[in-house]
Amino acid sequence: MTTDTFLAVLRQLGDFAEIRGASHDATAWRRFAADLGHLGAAEVSRVTELARKNRLRELATLPPGLHSTVRDLVLNGPDAIIGSNWASMSWLLRRLLEFASVDSAGAAALARMGVVTLADLEAALHDGRLATHSPAEHESLRLAALTLAIERPRQPLGRAVDLADNLTLLLAAACPEIQSLAVAGDVRRFEPMVDSVVIVGAAPDPPATLERICAIPMIQCAVFQTGRRVLLRYQQAEVDVRIAAPDEYGSALHLATGSAAHVAAVRGRHAVTRLCPREEDVYAQTGLAWIAPELRHDTGEIEAAAARRLPELVTREQMRGDLHMHSSYSDGRDDLAVMVQAAAALGYEYIAITDHSARAGASRTLTLEALDRQRTEVARLRERFPSMAILHGVEVDIMPDGQLDFDDHVLASLDIVLASLHDDAGHDVARLTRRCLGAIHHPLVNVITHPANRLVGRHAGYDLDFAAVYAAAAETGTALEIDGAPSHLDMDGEHARAAIAAGVTVTIDSDCHKASLLDRQMRLGVGTARRGWVEPRHVLNTRPLAEVRAFLAAKRVRRR
Ligand SMILES: [Zn+2]
Ligand SMILES: [Zn+2]
Repeated sequence: MTTDTFLAVLRQLGDFAEIRGASHDATAWRRFAADLGHLGAAEVSRVTELARKNRLRELATLPPGLHSTVRDLVLNGPDAIIGSNWASMSWLLRRLLEFASVDSAGAAALARMGVVTLADLEAALHDGRLATHSPAEHESLRLAALTLAIERPRQPLGRAVDLADNLTLLLAAACPEIQSLAVAGDVRRFEPMVDSVVIVGAAPDPPATLERICAIPMIQCAVFQTGRRVLLRYQQAEVDVRIAAPDEYGSALHLATGSAAHVAAVRGRHAVTRLCPREEDVYAQTGLAWIAPELRHDTGEIEAAAARRLPELVTREQMRGDLHMHSSYSDGRDDLAVMVQAAAALGYEYIAITDHSARAGASRTLTLEALDRQRTEVARLRERFPSMAILHGVEVDIMPDGQLDFDDHVLASLDIVLASLHDDAGHDVARLTRRCLGAIHHPLVNVITHPANRLVGRHAGYDLDFAAVYAAAAETGTALEIDGAPSHLDMDGEHARAAIAAGVTVTIDSDCHKASLLDRQMRLGVGTARRGWVEPRHVLNTRPLAEVRAFLAAKRVRRR
């Protein structure tokens, strides 16, 4: 095995251990692998030598639990550890071996073109930068980029937002010369799973600023660096930081925001153009109105921008209330009073308290007795917070038999009822759709929360007969939710767009379980709604309280 392959394998194993939780000491393993990455050929020979002589314990940085794995790797190559307790790694290792054979040529060629992530490769394929390469080279490049993608596991939007926000603050404090600093990439488009976190700034002397960034103590090491861009490690994740000169900032931000298909389509409208200081100018020079990042998927937004018919997307500031949140009465972390106080501090005109019904799968749920106690506490809190209306509600489970988890007389005593299909009970799509439609036709159900019950990164969501669901929701005056919890972000993009096209009223809610996250999750919900072309007129909780109450009351009257 060559030195390069050895290092690549070690790094990959470290990443893999962390993704799969395969090693209980993934952090130590990663640190060791990272250290090795900085060693020259001589030091790597020493590791090899020590492994051969069974003296790896002399390497202080290598956790003892990994001695036998490294020894196997050195003595017998990656195949040797396939079939051990790392059996599921065989696929990854095969990719690695493929990668090793294209390693030097492929990776270097990619790096020269500025392709260091899979997203970069997609962009390069779209804009024709790879056109001069032969099909065989294409395949090599694709493999190389796939391996890059494996090295950088995708992460959920919630975690990526935190990472990007923290690093942005750090960069702004450390480099006051940066004039504009924005989170770009998947995060700016509110992709539920983020391939790479990208931050873009403008500074008069980009290489000098990048040097200063790399010297920040909390930033670990530069994985890759040019005069305009560095891939660095921060809080155990990789972040792509790009610094442009001020007169190119708009173009840099546009390119870094993607999606690749959108950027290619915008560029395709016009011959190679000058670099622009503002993103608006990038669009203007191709005859387009500025397009909101959440719409940039090449799914009709460019045509709409050319015709000056872009939607007036809903904004966070237009949200007057939050109709879905949990307290410690069920599985929320904070007491009801803490949740209410935090919501009032956000300036909401109204909120709904919606804990889980008794037989929901949540870690804690509401008994009928607790629901009564909660009712009393809500009454007290209404006196304490007179400027904000507190609706007493519930998130009631749609049970496997299609019934709701609370009796009608209980639901009728509440101000708002949300219904959820948390438990699929092993049912097929037709039966799940019937359960959902049953809840929509129930006269006491006001909102269906996270309709597909998607779990980001784990479960794509039920493939319901959505056309039927939307039609029934519109017909009965039942709202469908766009849920801002990073684990749901459901309805997303095309679903939300189809729902509003069918005449459905949507809600945008935080589904928050922790007071400190109320605002963040509402922002994620609004971003998700904007991906679906949602305007304020489509959203129930952009409306004044009286209109919300009228919407809720109308269904009960209509169905009586
Ligand atoms: Zn739920
Ligand atoms: Zn919930």
